[in-house]
Amino acid sequence: GKSVAVLTSGGDSQGMNSALRAIVRLSLHRGMRVYAVHEGYQGLVDGGEKGMEECSWNSVSNILHKGGTAIGTARCRDFREREGRLRAASNLVKRSIGNLVVIGGDGSLTGASVFKEEWMGLLAELQQEQRITAEEAAKCRFLNIVGLVGSIDNDMCGTDMTIGTDSALHRIIEAVDCLTSTAASHQRSFVLEVMGRHCGYLAQMAAIAGRADWVLIPEKPPEPGWEDVMCQKMQTCCGLGERLSIVIVSEGAVDKENKPITSQYVKKVIETKLGHDTRITVLGHVQRGGKPSAYDRLIACRMGAAAVLVLLQATGEIPPTMIGVQGNYICRIPLMECVEATRNVNRAMQECNFKRAQALRGSSFLR
Ligand code: ADP
Repeated sequence: GKSVAVLTSGGDSQGMNSALRAIVRLSLHRGMRVYAVHEGYQGLVDGGEKGMEECSWNSVSNILHKGGTAIGTARCRDFREREGRLRAASNLVKRSIGNLVVIGGDGSLTGASVFKEEWMGLLAELQQEQRITAEEAAKCRFLNIVGLVGSIDNDMCGTDMTIGTDSALHRIIEAVDCLTSTAASHQRSFVLEVMGRHCGYLAQMAAIAGRADWVLIPEKPPEPGWEDVMCQKMQTCCGLGERLSIVIVSEGAVDKENKPITSQYVKKVIETKLGHDTRITVLGHVQRGGKPSAYDRLIACRMGAAAVLVLLQATGEIPPTMIGVQGNYICRIPLMECVEATRNVNRAMQECNFKRAQALRGSSFLR
């Protein structure tokens, strides 16, 4: 029978547990052995009982409703080195594991595709150094890899949504609602800083759902002189009886020269130009916390199941595959393409080529 290893890597996100649970249980149901790898790629590198644990049905009981990831995640320096990947390959081969599911962000999925590209070379080297036998190598001639995107930022090409984004958005909206009720008796302005790295999705959606007055995102640097336009807008709303102004700043927000627009700067602008009592709220890791939303549980479960089906159906070597959601359908996309496209988006962003970045990302959230 086949064996599969599953790991969560990079930043954690709500819904990873739902994916893990679906992967473990569908694998067992279909007669595959399944191993949970602890602490991301570190567990693969370290091996042993602590690093890689064979799962039973109950191994994933009682985790579906929890945020974060039950099997740990980490940033793993060792896996960036060839020796680390040699040890990882050896630990898989020793257990005759020829399938790997990686749940993580674009960094983790890049790591997975590097590993896949090197696989033959790694086996040859391990065999040469007599760290594995010829029979062991023959049983794992290829490694089939499937990637799921766990990231609150929704910053991966090839999928409309990533696991964790919807829950993070819920956290942000809850925070906006809290700000609204505390501001009932004062004329106050709030600057709310949200995560997203180079991607403004969370900020943009939070601004719409949380009725913000103004939003600053990386993909759409404001025109020079935007400070006055923003303040005018806030002033108009005050005139109409609004007692609260909210400006949402994406952590990656920049101006046309690619200089960061910080929440500190926005606060100063509002205080100087409008004289409002202005407070900054940085949500930070709160956005990663708490229970996964129903939507995240559902897409994660569907994606996890799809990953297992890809591996079960493979009759030989398959190219690394990413599972995404496009137009509410769960789909399979070549992993390399998604990784490459995401890299190009980030490069275009760094070069201030925002039109190109938007087109490449293929996401419709700015329309
Ligand atoms: P995320 O997956 O959330 O984007 P990182 O970028 O930190 O997070 O990547 C998580 C881990 O994936 C890294 O700590 C490293 O172990 C592995 N990784 C990332 N990029 C590579 C790479 N180019 N080669 C090998 N491993 C990588």
